[in-house]
Amino acid sequence: MTTVTTPGLERFRGLVSDALLSEIYDLARPLQGVHVLHINTTAQGGGVAALLRVLLPLARELGIPHTWRVVQLDEFAATFMARLTDMLQGGEPGLITPQDQRQFLDSLRSAMQPLVDERADLYYVHDIQLAPLGQLFPYMRPALWFNHIDTARPDPAALQYISQFLDAYALCTFNTPFSVFPQLPAERTAVITLGIDPFSERHAPLSESEGVVLLAGSGIDPTRPLITQVSRFGRWKNPWQVIEIYRLVKQRHPEVQVALVGALEASDDIRAQAILADLQQCAGDDPDIHLLWDPAQLTAPVVNAFQRFSQVILQRSSREGFGLTVTEAMWKYQPVVGTSATGVRYQITHGYDGFLADDAESAASYTLRLLEERELRRQMGEAAHRSVQERFLLPMMLRDYLAALLRVRQ
Ligand code: UDP
Repeated sequence: MTTVTTPGLERFRGLVSDALLSEIYDLARPLQGVHVLHINTTAQGGGVAALLRVLLPLARELGIPHTWRVVQLDEFAATFMARLTDMLQGGEPGLITPQDQRQFLDSLRSAMQPLVDERADLYYVHDIQLAPLGQLFPYMRPALWFNHIDTARPDPAALQYISQFLDAYALCTFNTPFSVFPQLPAERTAVITLGIDPFSERHAPLSESEGVVLLAGSGIDPTRPLITQVSRFGRWKNPWQVIEIYRLVKQRHPEVQVALVGALEASDDIRAQAILADLQQCAGDDPDIHLLWDPAQLTAPVVNAFQRFSQVILQRSSREGFGLTVTEAMWKYQPVVGTSATGVRYQITHGYDGFLADDAESAASYTLRLLEERELRRQMGEAAHRSVQERFLLPMMLRDYLAALLRVRQ
């Protein structure tokens, strides 16, 4: 049988195995014409939007119609969900009062009003914010749910709360095996590998001379070493520790600079503004601490330049389902100094393609090694790029995604 190929997927020939591409074409065939509707809470910024932006066009090219709708949460629902996220990520126990639960479901019902007439063959609901949709709207069948946060160590009360909504889903999907809810039967769970599109503008090759211009335009002195964390200003991204590490490194290298790159729109975390204000205070009048948040300035090429041409990339998350920023930097030949947070330790192999350390002192000493040992940095950067090529490119995600759809469809 001849296989009809698609240009989007054929770009990856040579980067991933032929066997993987064939597997994708085979998985896609029985799904042709099946309309999939994705629902999430952000169109711009954040990992979920980044994933859908690259996954959906490829799936469409394979003959599987896809639509994507965004539900706008009101302030109450967003605050309630931020608290529930903290609890599910194992931050601290909290109280979910019956009154809050009622108000949250009411908010969700009205947020969904503009979408209630949309019909599809399969419904894919993203994030804990929207987990109740399957139960609230029984026409959404069959439905899949995607949990994107770090639920390796959830608060039991929060887990119980969210679990009551999951019976509505034929399949619950997770971004690493560590975050799978243990009480769900194996036949209703799947892990979907997350991958990046190396051909997108955000990750396209960029010459050093172009990069230098872009960094200088953001106020960075390109002649001095730069440490960067690219992440929205969220509590779990631990931006405070980035500044702490920078200060430790600066004791030995007074010329070092640090950038925290987090476009404010790249956030469905409603507390980002307050965290940014706190960081501004923490940074004081140090001209070498760059807090960058203006989305108009943080274009795809600018973020690309920070990821490619910083001397050291940090990812200090204390919780992380799967850090796309880690994969992105690794693809750009950066050995990331990460933490043992769930997703980060899944992505980085300590001592081979990056470093894992939770406390600021150890992370600072790895940062110093990468700053001072050029050959080590080069070798580990090569390994980081290879790891992404082997494990975390878009076709790997597409394969797992199509396999999940098929499980529900059959
Ligand atoms: N991002 C961006 N601009 C920024 C900060 C982040 O485009 O200023 C992107 C980043 O490149 C990545 C996504 O937002 O693709 C964040 O995904 P990640 O999984 O790292 O974190 P999340 O925000 O989903 O927790």
